[in-house]
Amino acid sequence: QWIYLSGEFVKKEDAVVSVYDHGFLYGDGVFEGIRVYSGNVFKLDEHIHRLYDSAQSIMLNVPYTKEEMEQIIVETVRRNKLESAYIRVVVSRGAGNLGLDPAFCSQPRVIVIAEELALFPMELYQKGLRVGSVASRRNRPDVLSPQVKSLNYLNNILVKLEANQAGVDEALMLNDQGYVTEGSADNIFIIKNGTIYTPPVYLGALEGITRNAIIDLAREKGYELKESPFTRHDVYVADEVFLTGTAVEVIAVVEVDGRKIQDGKPGKVTNHLLSEFRKLVTQDGVK
Ligand code: PLP
Repeated sequence: QWIYLSGEFVKKEDAVVSVYDHGFLYGDGVFEGIRVYSGNVFKLDEHIHRLYDSAQSIMLNVPYTKEEMEQIIVETVRRNKLESAYIRVVVSRGAGNLGLDPAFCSQPRVIVIAEELALFPMELYQKGLRVGSVASRRNRPDVLSPQVKSLNYLNNILVKLEANQAGVDEALMLNDQGYVTEGSADNIFIIKNGTIYTPPVYLGALEGITRNAIIDLAREKGYELKESPFTRHDVYVADEVFLTGTAVEVIAVVEVDGRKIQDGKPGKVTNHLLSEFRKLVTQDGVK
């Protein structure tokens, strides 16, 4: 397996970074997760834009143009001869000293890893997820925007830990007013009386690329879809609930905080959108 590491392709065993890298010491950097379907990189443009926006927001200078970055990503997939894969792009502040001042970091580090995807078990897509809501709160947008996919993912990791502790598959984060925002690394949708709802991103959710693809797809297929705030109560009494994300694609939620969603099985609209999404991913992409 070949990994792109700051200017060259190196073998997985040789892909190591300095312990002085501020990505490691302080979580100072940004990242993206991208999928490859049938040899096509799905929504590559959108991911590259989001990566550069994240970097711009934390004053991190990506040392390549967007076009160069696109070529590096595509080349990483090619070199590893991958037809279906998960790509991780990381840009860290680079190696500095032990102080946290980025002024002493010489050069941002760019890493691209592409590997076979460890898909979620098929069974989870058929059965749906059990989720809980947790005490961890989404960052306040006025502090560090949830739009920044920073290497500091502690909030999200705490959410995952709380989910593990509670014995559920995933957990929902609320914002400081108690509105539902998103999962640990996925966006949430609910369906009530034929209308699909997802929280507006200003509440504190990442503007997921899968989320946006599903919004477009749902509207194209004639569903009514609204971006509007909702609480846990609305999730408990929904007709259907599902999550979206690069890693999970579209996956049904069948239980929330111990409340079964309707008959406790993935809903019709969710299944329809999942099958339409699977059609879309093989059509749309960069070879
Ligand atoms: N929310 C968070 C916090 C994430 O990290 C992710 C993953 O990227 C998502 C939502 C889903 O976004 P996307 O569909 O772009 O993968």
